[in-house]
Amino acid sequence: MSSKIIVLASSNAGKAREFAALIHPLGYELHLQKEYGVTDVAEDGLSFVENALIKARHAAKLSGLPALADDSGICVAALKGAPGIMSARFAGVHGDDVANNEKLLSLLAPYTQFEQRRASYVCALALVRHAADPLPLIAIATWDGYIGKEALGSGGFGYDPLFIVEGRGLTAAQLPESVKNLISHRARALRKLTVLLEQDPLE
Ligand code: IMP
Repeated sequence: MSSKIIVLASSNAGKAREFAALIHPLGYELHLQKEYGVTDVAEDGLSFVENALIKARHAAKLSGLPALADDSGICVAALKGAPGIMSARFAGVHGDDVANNEKLLSLLAPYTQFEQRRASYVCALALVRHAADPLPLIAIATWDGYIGKEALGSGGFGYDPLFIVEGRGLTAAQLPESVKNLISHRARALRKLTVLLEQDPLE
């Protein structure tokens, strides 16, 4: 069986490896969008799903191929879901993890009880067969925990040193990478997507 190509609407090689490992066994080959000259698009949706769809449709339109996009972030209940879709640029500068974490800690300072500091990582995946696909495959998963009061651990990235994983008493940055990659929001969304793809394979 020859592989079918899916374009990944991301420029992150680490994500591409993670996604390819689960999708390749189903007979699909993942190619990064830059191979088709696809540049980033404005993510102006209001939800993770909307932004994932915007990115997937954009990559499918410019490449002429099926496209997969993800959008992720962290939602804190006490902050009405913020940082949410603004997670990467919460403190103003895209990707400034230190400033983002400091801002989160200071906003949560009045919330001293752990129960008040509930948070969930969220990952939305959207796969479109073509740019105008009216029935995209959508998978969403969350990973629940709490925002700690100090940064702990050196693994992972982003909010991981603050995110205490429910039931483990460790931050995501204290988990071995292999464990995080099995239980994270991204891993679980990806497994859901592979189930949808098995039920409804691309033509
Ligand atoms: P993106 O979907 O890769 O753009 O991620 C958005 C932002 O959400 C990242 O820049 C991080 O701030 C945050 N984020 C998403 N997933 C994770 C994670 O697994 N660990 C830590 N931060 C994450």
